[in-house]
Amino acid sequence: MELQCVRFDGAVIDVEMKSLPTLYKNEPAVHTIVRDITERNQTRELLKASEKLNIAGQLAAGIAHEIRNPLSALKGFLQFIRSGSGGKKEYFEIMLDEINRIELIVGELLILAKPEQSMLERQIDLRIVLKQVIVLLEAQAILNGVQLVSELSSISLSPIVGDENQLKQVFINIIKNAIEAMPAGGDIRIELVQQDGMVEVHITDQGGGMPEASIHRLGEPFYTTKESGNGLGLMVSFKIVEQHNGSINIHSQQGVGTVFRVSFPAFDQNR
Ligand code: ADP
Ligand code: MG
Repeated sequence: MELQCVRFDGAVIDVEMKSLPTLYKNEPAVHTIVRDITERNQTRELLKASEKLNIAGQLAAGIAHEIRNPLSALKGFLQFIRSGSGGKKEYFEIMLDEINRIELIVGELLILAKPEQSMLERQIDLRIVLKQVIVLLEAQAILNGVQLVSELSSISLSPIVGDENQLKQVFINIIKNAIEAMPAGGDIRIELVQQDGMVEVHITDQGGGMPEASIHRLGEPFYTTKESGNGLGLMVSFKIVEQHNGSINIHSQQGVGTVFRVSFPAFDQNR
């Protein structure tokens, strides 16, 4: 057992106590070992605290990443208007959109800050999430000569439990990467599969693929092979999927393309 003891000098220490049955001078006896584990416990607490700090740091980096793009767009438009080129109505529309995006991200941050269970209360239909993500990314895809091909409505699908905005962020990050992996254009297939109690999203691109060594590094903060990348998208995505008790499986073949399979436990309504 673990307990606290007061030492002769008055200090309170953590101790671990073990007792073993034994014989002493041929009589049954108890052999007791008392070990001071104060230092061990302090080290453990320190480790826990530094792990928490580490997660907070990674999270902060992720959020900064998501907010920087809309901020630089806003800055650009403001500089343009200041230069006297006039503020067309469309500029204000775009600026408002960017502000809304920042608002949304800050909102997500608040969701993250809440205790974990609150996020795991809602039932979510991944078909709807994916449809919204596709609407968001379609314009960017077309600009890059990429078609988003999806088969979403045919099957009956269990809901999953989680946070809609965070899940959207995951699929936005993965599909954006897929678009960026196909500079010559092509198709991205987005499919939903339910098997073995899991709901899976398969995102298949026809991009350049990755060597084995790169696949191992995905999700590492700041790992990027892009000139203007920052290697935070997948880190944030891995973290979110992990918080949803899901997993991400990646298969890639150079010159052929990459498949991201994201799985979540299906929510059983008959439970
Ligand atoms: P970023 O997009 O800013 O580089 P990410 O975390 O989103 O950061 O991705 C990290 C790296 O993973 C990318 O730079 C790229 O090398 C690789 N990657 C991710 N998705 C794909 C993909 N679909 N095809 C090829 N490489 C990919
Ligand atoms: Mg990315």
